[in-house]
Amino acid sequence: MPDRGAFVHTDILCLPPAARATLIALSVLSGMCMGSFLFCVSIRSICAGERRGYRSRCPLCGHTLSPRELVPVMSYVVQRGRCRSCAGRIPLAYPISEIVCGAMYAACVLRFGLSFEALGAAAFGSVLFCCAVTDLAGGVLPDRFHAAGILCWVVSLPLVAYERGGVFWDEMRGMFAGGMVGALGISLPLAAVVLFMNRALKREGMGMGDIKLLSVTGLYLGFGMALTGLILSCIFGIVFGLVYRGCGGKTGKPGEPGAVVTGGRTVFPFAPAVSAAAFLTLLFGLNLTG
Ligand SMILES: [Zn+2]
Repeated sequence: MPDRGAFVHTDILCLPPAARATLIALSVLSGMCMGSFLFCVSIRSICAGERRGYRSRCPLCGHTLSPRELVPVMSYVVQRGRCRSCAGRIPLAYPISEIVCGAMYAACVLRFGLSFEALGAAAFGSVLFCCAVTDLAGGVLPDRFHAAGILCWVVSLPLVAYERGGVFWDEMRGMFAGGMVGALGISLPLAAVVLFMNRALKREGMGMGDIKLLSVTGLYLGFGMALTGLILSCIFGIVFGLVYRGCGGKTGKPGEPGAVVTGGRTVFPFAPAVSAAAFLTLLFGLNLTG
């Protein structure tokens, strides 16, 4: 168990500086590669007309990218942000997602050491990242990302329980119960309030996708931390909302980063705030309830 008082895990602090630097560099690199992959998966999941296939292509001209065009961030810098085939501008969202995921993965390793707990945190972070991207880019939260979050949590349970070294089934039972209380304790009251408000105001406020995402955060965080995450989400949501409105909001076509048009109405994307809040709550072990 990491010491809740310090951000950097003792395993990492005990390493010689060269090994520590290598480990951080490797986690940043793997996060960047995953960021590139996750961003494409997220964008493809909301673009109905997007060509399917395993090879990455230029979003503008369809040119199949060679390995040298797929190096995270570096390719973007070397090509000065333009496609080698059509010279079209590659959206800045690509290198930004690679950097964000690189930082997230490194933070997981620093916080939880080289452990299954770090792996679980990285998987949770990846799901949060995909939800933030699809909500920002298309105003939708595909159920498959919630399902991926639940699956990763279920897979991580026995691994983390084994790692903690106590009585295996006691650890499993404790973590399972904590996650379920977190998920249901957050989502059920919130769903009731939102359904009531929607009926009273005769329009849709918070979407059900956001509530599903919050219940997934409850699985990983448990009730106390998920509640902290929810409060933090609202604060981030207000800040993001002001920035979003300041930046002009609904520019771009559906499927492009920045476009939030659903049924002809602009919907403010709340998932980026939920995702950022949940990930920071996990990293810093924030728990207002004690
Ligand atoms: Zn191109």
